[in-house]
Amino acid sequence: MDIEALTQGVLDREARAVARAISLVEDGRPELATLSAGIYRHTGSAATLGLTGAPGVGKSTLATALVRAARAAGQRVAVLAIDPTSPYTGGALLGDRVRMQEHATDPDVFIRSMATRGHLGGMALAAPEAVRILDAAGFDLVIVETVGVGQAEIDVAAATDTAVVVLAPGLGDAVQMAKAGILEVADVFVVNKADREGAPAVVRELRQMLHLGPPRPWDPPVLATAATTDEGLAELWSTIEEHARWADASGARDEKRRERLLREVESLGAERLRLELTAALQADADLLARLAAREVDPYGAADELAGRMRA
Ligand code: GDP
Repeated sequence: MDIEALTQGVLDREARAVARAISLVEDGRPELATLSAGIYRHTGSAATLGLTGAPGVGKSTLATALVRAARAAGQRVAVLAIDPTSPYTGGALLGDRVRMQEHATDPDVFIRSMATRGHLGGMALAAPEAVRILDAAGFDLVIVETVGVGQAEIDVAAATDTAVVVLAPGLGDAVQMAKAGILEVADVFVVNKADREGAPAVVRELRQMLHLGPPRPWDPPVLATAATTDEGLAELWSTIEEHARWADASGARDEKRRERLLREVESLGAERLRLELTAALQADADLLARLAAREVDPYGAADELAGRMRA
């Protein structure tokens, strides 16, 4: 594969190149390092928005509505729908996403589902690289939609500039969310399906819950929407913009981005060292033999191994 041409294709905003580059990320291909080095300088201008919540709360419907709002504001927008459990690639999933068809012919909209098949760091490391590809391809806004509320999804959401957590009546309550640690990462809460009975109670419960926590520099608002009828969507869009302005002016966004990069480098580095260590251990028949013969204990063997890696 001509990785230079692919990199140029991404920078030239070619949809096919962007799609292929994201496939490289999914597969964790070795060429990724070259691609990453080629695009990194061209990143940093996209705003990122996370949409997290239990399946069925209306994230995809909201994403479609937000794409519409972004387009109305003249922005180029990408949606990355992340499925950490599915071994299948985006293409297949995308076919099912008929609700996204309204934007299918718009060259300034890119919608893609993503799974991790080969990426060693899993979704927590694959997602930020995919977002950078979209950033380098000139998208002003990248919406990262996750399918569940597990730790991986929370990590991915926390890594966006503005994390929107979506709830709906009857689908996962605030107490569950608090236990999952999701309240802390949210910048905006949305109680969707406001047309359904029980929505005001969810809003109330959530607000009470938030009041129990320590005060935060940005007080996350709780909004009610009905994504299928556009109710509350204008307010959601302006709240997202307001948060972005606040995060920009206060320095919170840059701090969050720095923190995120630090953690990413740390994870990538740890993963690399772990692989080297595993290989060194497996290749060391002598150490394994001494371990089996009880001449060295596991702690001593680990020390020996670590010492050799440092040498
Ligand atoms: P996701 O799994 O979180 O992405 O949820 P979807 O966007 O796929 O929505 C799940 C179902 O709820 C779909 O049938 C939507 O049409 C429906 N839905 C989404 N938003 C609303 C809403 O505000 N009110 C009602 N009544 N249904 C909605």
